[in-house]
Amino acid sequence: MGFQMFTARCVRASRDAKGTGVAGSPPPVNAASAVARLVLTPEAWTAVAQHAASRPSEEVCGMLIGAGEGGAARVARIIPSRNVADPSERGRRFLMEPRDVLDVERTLRGGPERLLGFYHSHPDGTAEPSALDTAYMTLWPATAWLIVPMGPMGAGGTARTPRAWLLEAEAASPSRTNAPPGAPGQAALRELVIEGLPTRCPL
Ligand SMILES: [Zn+2]
Repeated sequence: MGFQMFTARCVRASRDAKGTGVAGSPPPVNAASAVARLVLTPEAWTAVAQHAASRPSEEVCGMLIGAGEGGAARVARIIPSRNVADPSERGRRFLMEPRDVLDVERTLRGGPERLLGFYHSHPDGTAEPSALDTAYMTLWPATAWLIVPMGPMGAGGTARTPRAWLLEAEAASPSRTNAPPGAPGQAALRELVIEGLPTRCPL
């Protein structure tokens, strides 16, 4: 399927669904279905953890920027974004402004870096995709989703060991392009190995 079709669907979904997620055109990740590892630089992970810890009671979110090669998505840096969900809901979902994503894609166009995926935090301490996360991952197959569980609030909202997930590209096969987000299908959620985490979280 073409990216144009995908773009239209993503934008429509972002308007129709008041849920968690991001919208825009999908990032062109090379050989994305073969991606098995998410490689973080220490600086990238520290930035994610600090962003999450800055608002421990809310889901924070942002973009993972770098290069995809050799079965690995190599995150060189992150771009924090805004959670524009209703303030009363930010503790359990995030919503990125589509314009923020599109602006980043535009900036990266023609350069060596790509939008590899997204990160967000879970104040409830889980590191698995929620139902809303999974629904939106169907709009962004083959992109890495890094989920950062937060520690107990009493511990100061510490970012704990994250997990990374990817929805196999088959989830976006043309036969399913008219399916709503989260529709049952053959989508295969796969966990990625994360490399580059410190033995101890930096915060
Ligand atoms: Zn989530």
